[in-house]
Amino acid sequence: MAYDLLDVTGILFKRRRYQEADLLAKLWTRELGIVTVIIKGGMRPKSPFNAVALPFTEGTFSILTKRRGISQLRATKDLKQHDELYSDLVKNAYLSYLFDLADHAFSEYQPLDEFYGLLVSAFKRIVAGQDPEIITQMVELQLLAAYGVMPHLASCLICGKEQGIFDYSIALGGVVCSDHFNRVQREHLSPKATGLIRTLGLIPIDRLGEIGVSDQLKLETRQAIRKIYQATVDLRLSSLNFLDEIRSDIFPKK
Ligand SMILES: [Zn+2]
Repeated sequence: MAYDLLDVTGILFKRRRYQEADLLAKLWTRELGIVTVIIKGGMRPKSPFNAVALPFTEGTFSILTKRRGISQLRATKDLKQHDELYSDLVKNAYLSYLFDLADHAFSEYQPLDEFYGLLVSAFKRIVAGQDPEIITQMVELQLLAAYGVMPHLASCLICGKEQGIFDYSIALGGVVCSDHFNRVQREHLSPKATGLIRTLGLIPIDRLGEIGVSDQLKLETRQAIRKIYQATVDLRLSSLNFLDEIRSDIFPKK
């Protein structure tokens, strides 16, 4: 198969040194999904790519690609960099984790469909200063579908009721209403926590406004989402361990 020179739009979310002076970077793109590119000579101080190939650079990337394996970065345009992210450890830790989580949900060159926009929107919102914990929990819940374990949140799994008091059942993979609490194995979350999980799992990110959520409630939903992931996806991401260290300052361990 021949190489094509293509322009892809997206975010460079990861990079590492490769051999002497080259770099490997990962792009989250609208056109081709996740793409690993080699940046020849990118480690050299005089390389035009030395500065652009930093994580969380947005823009258009011209790549030589066979739509499989490693592609090659040839040029960039309309780049937008966020220098402030390098000194903001909290935003950086949240973003690194989110892209790591998304990276594990897809193979390279697999279409990202609506998840492309989910991550880009989450990125822009966290950069702009919206609550990164809420954005992160939303992305975690919505990415479960990409992992093939989409939780049922719209209605009670047993009777289909959409309104009322709900709890989450990991055993059943979704929510149940209070009419059936005594019949199922459930997490015993507070009704507020289950309500927040339903909202974050169901609404499109572009409709998410600023919502006031107490730290205690965010901690409860975070722990519930962690349990859902452990029971269904079971990843071990070092980016999550790092985020947990950062977050222990924000949410003191009890
Ligand atoms: Zn029910």
